[in-house]
Formats: sequence, C-alpha cells, structure tokens
Amino acid sequence: MTDFTRREVLKMGAAGTAVVGISALGFDVAVAEATTVKQRLRIANAKVSRSVCPYCAVGCSLLAYTRRNGNGSVELLQIEGDPDSPVNEGTLCPKGASAMELAVSKRRMQGPLYRAPGAAEWKRVSWDFVLDKLARNIKAARDRTFVTRDDEGNVVNRCEGIAFAGGAAFSNEEGYLTTKLMRGLGFVYLEQQARV
Ligand code: SF4
Repeated sequence: MTDFTRREVLKMGAAGTAVVGISALGFDVAVAEATTVKQRLRIANAKVSRSVCPYCAVGCSLLAYTRRNGNGSVELLQIEGDPDSPVNEGTLCPKGASAMELAVSKRRMQGPLYRAPGAAEWKRVSWDFVLDKLARNIKAARDRTFVTRDDEGNVVNRCEGIAFAGGAAFSNEEGYLTTKLMRGLGFVYLEQQARV
C-alpha cells in the first residue's frame, strides 16, 4: 500500500473538497471542458490581430480573431480582452465585451437617416444630402449665435450656439483635426464621450 505524508493527505483532501463544492453549486466540470474545446475549435487556425477598444479613454486592448473564407472574404470570429495588456489584463467591461457587434450587428446603421421637422418617420438619405444639410445648418446657427465681444467689451469671437461631441473611437489625428476645425469655427463647447 502506498504511504502518504501528512501534507499529501491534506492536499488531496483540499482538492476533493473543492470538487465537491463545485458540484454542489451545480457547476458541471464536463460542460465547462466541452465549452472550452468548442471555443478552441471556433477560433482554431484563426488570425489574431491586436486592437484597442474604441469606447472610452481607458484604452483596453482587444484580440480580434479572423479567418479568410473560401470565397476570399474575411470573417470576424471573436473579439476578447488581451491578457498581455497591462491596462485590462484580458478583461473587458460590458461595453467593450460587445465590441464585436460594431462589426457584425445586423441592427447597425449602414447610412444616414433623416427626419424632417414635424415628420414622424425617418427616411434613408444620401451622404451628399446630409453633408449639405449639416453645412447649411452650421452656417445658419453660427451666423445667428456668433459673439464678437463679451459683456465687458473684450473681443472674444466665439460661437455659443453650437456644441460638438467627439467619440472615443477617434484616433489622435482625427481628434486633432476635428478640434482644429471646431476651434476654427469659434466653437467653445467641445466635449468627449469618453469623459462621461
Ligand atoms: S469601454 Fe470598457 S472595455 Fe472599452 S476601453 Fe473602456 S473600460 Fe475598457
């Protein structure tokens, strides 16, 4: 018969207790293992690319798994937290965990919609229509609300009638360019979704 030291017996006892505890909680080890295998198969031989979550300034790192299909198209299989990142160490908040939907959701808007004043329905319009409309509305609002001097007579040359909200999905360059444009138009109310 095999002899066990006191330490070995205690270790076996602890392991046995853990298994019993997990079973008692209804966690099926076999199911967990099967899920892991399925997960492995889904991303088997996939290409892994590193990216950054676009939603906020925390900047969590992502791993994106893609595979090229027989017809040459690239399919996004999965997005998850990057365990090598010192920022998020493989974790993602619920918003980041849904990042894949940005690429694959059928509910994602594919183009601009417009609801005319007083209308109940949104209708699909072209980008040309939207850009013209935006330019006209910005010009009209800026002309209407531009302030050249404050109450004390100081020259301020600012537009108080338009605000701009950026997004965390902006790159540094987009953020710089956008801020330049908005400041050039005299806008003072610039905000960023990542700060809320
Ligand atoms: S939204 Fe969540 S996952 Fe994305 S960068 Fe911010 S904290 Fe990280």
